Amino acid sequence: MAEGAKEKYVEELVDQSDDFSRWYNQVVRKAELADYAPVRGCMIIRPYGYAIWEHIQRLLDARFKETGVMNAYFPLLIPRSFLEREAKHVEGFAPEVAWVTRGGGEELEEPLAIRPTSETIIGYSFARWIQSYRDLPLLINLWNNVMRWEKRTVLFLRTAEFLWQEGHTAHRTLEEAEERTRLMLEVYRSFVQEDLAIPVLHGRKSENEKFAGALRTYSLEAMMRDGKALQSATSHNLGHNFAQGFDIQYLDSDGQRKYCATTSWGLSTRIIGAIIMVHGDESGLILPPHVAPYQAVVVPIWRKDADQGAIMEAIGRIERMLKGKVRLKVDLSDNTPGWKFNEWELRGVPVRIEIGPRDVQNNSVVLVRRDNRAKETVAIDALETRLPELLEEVQQALFQRALAFREEHTYYAETYDEFKEIMSEKRGFVRVKWAEDSEAELAIKEETKATLRVIPFDQPEGGVQGRCFYTGKPATCEAVFARSY
Ligand code: AMP
Repeated sequence: MAEGAKEKYVEELVDQSDDFSRWYNQVVRKAELADYAPVRGCMIIRPYGYAIWEHIQRLLDARFKETGVMNAYFPLLIPRSFLEREAKHVEGFAPEVAWVTRGGGEELEEPLAIRPTSETIIGYSFARWIQSYRDLPLLINLWNNVMRWEKRTVLFLRTAEFLWQEGHTAHRTLEEAEERTRLMLEVYRSFVQEDLAIPVLHGRKSENEKFAGALRTYSLEAMMRDGKALQSATSHNLGHNFAQGFDIQYLDSDGQRKYCATTSWGLSTRIIGAIIMVHGDESGLILPPHVAPYQAVVVPIWRKDADQGAIMEAIGRIERMLKGKVRLKVDLSDNTPGWKFNEWELRGVPVRIEIGPRDVQNNSVVLVRRDNRAKETVAIDALETRLPELLEEVQQALFQRALAFREEHTYYAETYDEFKEIMSEKRGFVRVKWAEDSEAELAIKEETKATLRVIPFDQPEGGVQGRCFYTGKPATCEAVFARSY
């Protein structure tokens, strides 16, 4: 590609405010995070996108293990009879399941589902592994892929095949299962807020929105920059439902056989979509330093060949100094510095390190933050301490900026008229007093396209006073509605 065409390629990004979904797709493709696959709804995750996923895996996996969870692997194919054993589960997943009906050139006796989630095969195994209360709690996690035949798909956000982790646990009592369900939501919340710099609402899902077969579902909801909500992780208390379907029983210390209480919890590659849509701006991606494949990019700037030697020597020194401390990319391609600035901004690298002949003379470099473009000159010897500190400042600033955005776009509605007005004129979350009425919830969705995202844990002190904004019945809680992905 000619230089001019390349410059244009970077500049072509549409404005977020003109067409947010086009902006999103352009960023995903141009930043080389992912690409479309030959099969509709599937996604090719490119190395730069996959590197983000690897950091997510590494950081989240460590947090799981701190709570006593161990990893395992379960097969991709699940017998049809398994899916049928939990009635609500099969009903919920039936439209999305892909089936394997032939193998070895022959029709299979029993069709095999490509796992849409592993609850059922986990249930089968737990029933065989758990004999007595001494085997409990059983805490496992799977890092794998699943397939759900989604109709409308968007790269990362909703794909037919996606990568995720699914945790599965079994416990003696319902209370213990509830505790674990909440604990894992808390693990997700701290991970998403601290490592991805995404502020989230955390709380309970309504009956309509809960997982097929769950007693209760908890979720994290984040606000994207177009004001829509994205469910960013879920944690389900499955109660005794799967234990009864799969006969997961244990002999308790009182000599009685009892059903286990089970949980499951998941976070998927969808979260990469959240990173893009929460932090990105008119120049492209902005990656939170904790998960950025490259935390800083070195761009050398020389006008004369004679400058090159000294600059390369300084870069070598910087690389050695930062090895194992900062994930560094040195861009030695023959693109112009301006092109490199654009490209690495588009790809969201949190800090740029500029180094030219005068910098070398002064034994310093210029650091440029991606989030606010602030520049500072730093002595090369001070980089080792200043750069990690600056990366942490960027990480915090991204969180604060996203939080401020969410607060600016969160509204309170007392009446349904107010609610509809906000929904038609503004973008964001609407908090209301709510009497937990499933039919009302469906009617609201039908008319306004807004769904009940979450009943936040954070409720008014002393309980909710007053009436439901829709039904006028005495309110039992505050709920948050929004349009969502
Ligand atoms: P679930 O098993 O439905 O509770 O989903 C577990 C996690 O995967 C949640 O965080 C969902 O937001 C996410 N998820 C569900 N469906 C998809 C999909 N088609 N593509 C990507 N992520 C998904």
